[in-house]
Amino acid sequence: MRVSNLLVPTLREVPAEAEVISHQLLLRAGFMRKAAAGVYTLLPLAWRVILKIERIIREEMDRQGGQEIMMPIIQPAELWQESGRWDVYGPELFRFKDRHGRDFCLGPTHEEIITTLVKGEINSYKQLPLLLYQIQNKYRDERRPRFGLMRGREFIMKDLYSFDRDEAGLDASYNKMYEAYTNVFRRCGLQFRPVVADSGAIGGSDTHEFMVLAESGEATVLYCADEKCGYAANQERAEAVHSLASNIDVPGELQKVSTPGCRSVSEVTEYLNVPPEKVIKTVIYTTDKENVAVMIRGDREINEIKLYNVLGCVRLDLADEQTVRGVTGAPVGYAGPVGLNGVKLVADSEVMSLVNAVCGANEKEQHLVNVNPQRDTKPDLITDIRLVKAGEPCPQCGAELLEAKGIEVGQVFKLGTKYSKALGGTFLDESGKARPFVMGCYGIGVTRTMAAAVEQNYDERGIIWPVQIAPYHVIVVPVSSKDQNLMQAAETIYNDLNDAGVETVIDDRPERAGVKFNDADLVGYPLRVTVGSKGLANGQVELYMRRNGETVLVPQDDVVNAVK
Ligand code: ATP
Ligand code: MG
Ligand code: MG
Ligand code: MG
Repeated sequence: MRVSNLLVPTLREVPAEAEVISHQLLLRAGFMRKAAAGVYTLLPLAWRVILKIERIIREEMDRQGGQEIMMPIIQPAELWQESGRWDVYGPELFRFKDRHGRDFCLGPTHEEIITTLVKGEINSYKQLPLLLYQIQNKYRDERRPRFGLMRGREFIMKDLYSFDRDEAGLDASYNKMYEAYTNVFRRCGLQFRPVVADSGAIGGSDTHEFMVLAESGEATVLYCADEKCGYAANQERAEAVHSLASNIDVPGELQKVSTPGCRSVSEVTEYLNVPPEKVIKTVIYTTDKENVAVMIRGDREINEIKLYNVLGCVRLDLADEQTVRGVTGAPVGYAGPVGLNGVKLVADSEVMSLVNAVCGANEKEQHLVNVNPQRDTKPDLITDIRLVKAGEPCPQCGAELLEAKGIEVGQVFKLGTKYSKALGGTFLDESGKARPFVMGCYGIGVTRTMAAAVEQNYDERGIIWPVQIAPYHVIVVPVSSKDQNLMQAAETIYNDLNDAGVETVIDDRPERAGVKFNDADLVGYPLRVTVGSKGLANGQVELYMRRNGETVLVPQDDVVNAVK
């Protein structure tokens, strides 16, 4: 490719609206342009980077047995109503009506579509496990789209969904994806760290986020100073663990009350006479190693943070081997993910799948504990939960916790049977019994990964692409476009490199050498071959390495070997 033909509109000035480095540099270096808030056009160089990231992702997904498909972006509301998410997803969901007045949304994620698909096509345990994925645009009407590709409203995501017959199968699929993600981000040349993440689930391994460590990261990662320990968590998650470790008391006296009719949280709320639409959220934690308490809370909106009052509590007896373990491995149980400002809660059906997971299939006796029949008292439980900070002891080993900012580039998540149950996705097991699929979902932000790569690879002159995802490997720069001899030598090198499979551009523009060098540094080509008359007189050209600024002279007819 010739730079004279390449659409790479570099800018001298730092665009005013761009707060973070990747946003600034991707605009300045001519990789993208904004179409609307959080919506971008990717120009040729950016698209090449995206295709390379996608290729790495495809290879790693396929290696683990993933099969690529393409699902629709337009999704019918009915599926979302069936899963219960039409009402709970909130304003992030782009909704619209067709000409007949039917409701639709633009897919922010695809659990509903894929569960419905698999439900229709897979009927036997013999067809499992099944790993299906796609790489596609996602739509989320983010409250604050910002930082360019980092938090867009339209962005590219790889999403894979696993379908297994049981928890053991899910564990295996999850581990495969964990490994695939580790390979993907390593191959993209990124410094990253998998961390235990906020989820709505039990135990320490039900979801991990893959964090690229960078100052501009919106997430706070807490990690143990002792590398051997290896504890690392999203701060939200660490808070939950800490609050458990510091033994938050269940308010009021726990009292077993026999409730022969109550078999689920919704039945308990009915018993408590709480309108179901008020009890949208719950939080779970253990009071001791044998019991899980499910707190049912009513909502009370305070600004944007919902606080929940304790309305009631279900107590579930657990057998010893079903003791719930926190990320520390200690039997601390699980608290619903705890947000900065209070309790972030999981949906009712999620809680029920947790409860089922904890209790096992052979339903254990359940008891109702009527903690607090008067609503709207004891909201102070929420304020007991505090922010965990760096400097505090690691919940796993007691060493110091350190803090870093992270960009969430991917997440692996055990869904369990939440969607298969809600949408009726079942298969027949060996004994001919219908069972719900045990599912996992796994996302990688492709466009965000590109931005994160820039956050980790730049200097004051511009981007420094890791070779694996660089738009091109080499730029050939003839220092004068008037010298025919020199241009001819540059053309030869350019052709030889391309013929040898090295992705190469030539800056054939009638610009001053300084302008070409600046643009090449800004764009971030890993290698520059400078063709000047002085060197040519000795049969030599200069090889310049963008990352460390080092230069070496190489014979003009040996550039291909020198580059490789
Ligand atoms: P965040 O916490 O940043 O809002 P998320 O947890 O909502 O992200 P997931 O639902 O886990 O995102 O989606 C999988 C991946 O998609 C994320 O790990 C991230 O890399 C990417 N992603 C999510 N939202 C955006 C967005 N608005 N713009 C770009 N990439 C995104
Ligand atoms: Mg989000
Ligand atoms: Mg997140
Ligand atoms: Mg996530």
